Amino acid sequence: MNKIYGIKLDEQGRCIHYHTENDIVALMCAQCQCFYACYKCHDEMNDHQFKPMPIDSTKVLCGNCKHVLSYQQYQKGSCPFCKHAFNPRCKLHKEIYFRK
Ligand SMILES: [Zn+2]
Ligand SMILES: [Zn+2]
Ligand SMILES: [Zn+2]
Repeated sequence: MNKIYGIKLDEQGRCIHYHTENDIVALMCAQCQCFYACYKCHDEMNDHQFKPMPIDSTKVLCGNCKHVLSYQQYQKGSCPFCKHAFNPRCKLHKEIYFRK
């Protein structure tokens, strides 16, 4: 269940596309209901494009401690369980990962 899919992942869920210190969050695709390190990984590994989850029911996975977080928890900028910081630049891609 709490498995992260992606290309060339490290233990904390960084992928070939996004791999700075804080790129540890995995996002769920509404169609396949799996966690992916990023939408580029998803789109390269599937024959459909990443489908955003509704913001109220979405889940994100902390790659550091593998706890599942709500959007509200994710939005705070760090993991409430392990305190690892998230990459604030992910918000630039909000429309790809979440919908209202
Ligand atoms: Zn999918
Ligand atoms: Zn990726
Ligand atoms: Zn965590």
